[in-house]
Amino acid sequence: MSAITLRALTKVYPGGVRALDALDLDVADGEFFALLGPSGCGKTTLLRTVAGLETATGGTIRLGDADVTRLPPGRRDVGMVFQDYALFPHMTVLDNIAYPLRIKKEGRARRHGAAAEAAEYLSLAGLEQRRPGELSGGQQQRVALARALVAHPRIFLLDEPLSNLDARLRLEARTFLKRLQRELGVTTVFVTHDQAEALALADRIAVMEAGRIRQLGTPVEVFRRPANLFVASFIGSTPMNLLPGRVCGGSVAVAGAVLPVPAEERGSVEDGESVVCGVRPEYLDFSDVPADGAFGGRVSVVEHLGASSLVTLDVGDDRVSVVVGEDREPRPGDEGWAVPRPGRVLLYRDGELITGA
Ligand code: ATP
Repeated sequence: MSAITLRALTKVYPGGVRALDALDLDVADGEFFALLGPSGCGKTTLLRTVAGLETATGGTIRLGDADVTRLPPGRRDVGMVFQDYALFPHMTVLDNIAYPLRIKKEGRARRHGAAAEAAEYLSLAGLEQRRPGELSGGQQQRVALARALVAHPRIFLLDEPLSNLDARLRLEARTFLKRLQRELGVTTVFVTHDQAEALALADRIAVMEAGRIRQLGTPVEVFRRPANLFVASFIGSTPMNLLPGRVCGGSVAVAGAVLPVPAEERGSVEDGESVVCGVRPEYLDFSDVPADGAFGGRVSVVEHLGASSLVTLDVGDDRVSVVVGEDREPRPGDEGWAVPRPGRVLLYRDGELITGA
């Protein structure tokens, strides 16, 4: 049984914005699940609707075997961390953490015992009597996590939990969050618009656009085989090369190169058909001598990324970017060839990935 089962979940806000459009989703027990997508695609609405902070316009929400679609938030057994943490400024750290237990009318001793334990677990020991205004961003975030976890919820919902932290703290907090989720094994759904964060943390990712899921898969699946051009252009810290091509006799003519159509997709394309070829800059090797099946052109831009650089080749009217290791240093004006790695060129028709029949 899934921990979260959404069927035809729809949310239309007053005014007519369809933030969730008949969405189906199954999140497995103990899974660390990311909702990823551009601003306004409906990620926060999905999380808030599962938490019960928004009412679904249509469809159902099951948590375990219970239909919670019409239950108020307090009876859904979920812990939520908000983007701005939403801590009570006038309360101490300990009282903030203990708050969900107060709502559940637990006795004072039990409340404080459990809150102190959660504080200790989240490395907040010694800070229990401070108020949120006297804490760093990272500490405030851990208080919000402790408060969400103190009542041992069945589901943990995190809305952009790392977005208020600076770049370095963010990396630390990311590792911390991953370890915490592994240790507790609690089913967790987190919202992010940062694809690197989703790829690094999640067991599976749903990439959303306009209230729908455009692809659902592991980080490796969505990175290696984006199901459509929307996901292909959204995922990846360097954008995927997307080049127009034409099928001809078992090959694709694209950006001056002739590439074989992958064997398993040969039966799915027709001669003369227009396609889009997608290949990630990371899956191209740079060569300074001509190579078969390579995109040949002239280096126009070199951007240093640290241990590698992103090199742009002008190939006729097309541009092809390649991630080049530090052992090579092409310069603008040099001739160069970008050699696709076997099996790494994807073909798209009408915006959708062509897969073998
Ligand atoms: P972001 O990454 O910017 O937080 P999001 O993916 O979380 O975006 P939502 O906040 O879920 O997106 O919003 C989805 C759509 O619903 C947007 O078009 C937004 O303008 C609209 N929306 C959100 N909340 C409301 C509301 N209370 N009333 C009306 N429309 C809303």
